[in-house]
Amino acid sequence: MSHTVAFIGLGHMGAPMAANLVKAGHRVRGHDLVPDAVDGATRTGVKPAASAADAVADTDVVITMLPMGRHVLDLYDSVLPAARPGTLFVDCSTIDVADARTAHERAVAAGMRALDAPVSGGVVGAEAATLTFMAGGGEAEFAEARPLLEAMGKKAVHCGGAGAGQAAKICNNMILGISMIAVSEAFVLGESLGLSHQALYDVASTASGQCWALSVNCPVPGPVPTSPASRDYRPGFAASLMAKDLGLAANAVRAGGVHAELGLRAAELYAVYAERAGATEDFSGIVRTIRDQSGE
Ligand code: NAD
Repeated sequence: MSHTVAFIGLGHMGAPMAANLVKAGHRVRGHDLVPDAVDGATRTGVKPAASAADAVADTDVVITMLPMGRHVLDLYDSVLPAARPGTLFVDCSTIDVADARTAHERAVAAGMRALDAPVSGGVVGAEAATLTFMAGGGEAEFAEARPLLEAMGKKAVHCGGAGAGQAAKICNNMILGISMIAVSEAFVLGESLGLSHQALYDVASTASGQCWALSVNCPVPGPVPTSPASRDYRPGFAASLMAKDLGLAANAVRAGGVHAELGLRAAELYAVYAERAGATEDFSGIVRTIRDQSGE
């Protein structure tokens, strides 16, 4: 079944996601604050809307792909009065769990339905329609959104009620951030003990140290030729995005009174590292900071 979809936020992720909805036969009305972003999306078949409110009027589904929670909440406040009652709001941005729940409550209070559905897979996944969606909200809303999510990705998991998609995203990325630091520290320790990268990789990747950070995204060049380390740490998954996601995890850790020392420390280390590496370096490049600081 084809839908009329409003797509708000046509940046690095949103533009290719909206283009994949058009390819799948949906009518997509797009809006972004940046005119160049709208022009780019128009070239892929998205119909430009003069404002966010114009984009959502008379649509079945509104998809948002915005930077932070405050953008999503402000946008919801401005467009909810313009939407038809019962419209399904699907927020794919990565935001605080608390903001996701607030967005859901505001949508429902305005007579709409809502789902949080953040993604993993990055710009490459958005372009190739191979994203993984993690959704939070009702069963019926997930079932209705599913064909749209599957037009933009290869997998959609219903994780529970409002905010559960964001919760799954930040818990997964907290594992990833901590494990990348653990793997990086082990390689630098191995260097100081005279152990070659290949020898440590050959042992740990087939022993109990095995994890994605080691065997797919190996932070030292050589053992995994396809890892960002083997192409001078070009992303991949940018350091700035890992710092953002760990910051969201740290907010949830503090709000919940959870004793997650490593999660909080990983957020601190990535915040410092991302200030220098920003969006241009893969998050596995943190191994170089650990090496630089060693033996000081
Ligand atoms: P981006 O900055 O490229 O795009 C965001 C877009 O939103 C921009 O074009 C901006 O102009 C627009 N925007 C902001 N406020 C708006 C408003 N009120 N109305 C209309 N448009 C507005 O960011 P991105 O890389 O596309 O990421 C979007 C979200 O996806 C973020 O939450 C990010 O954390 C998450 N994410 C990104 C990646 C990635 O690899 N880039 C991967 C997974 C998740």
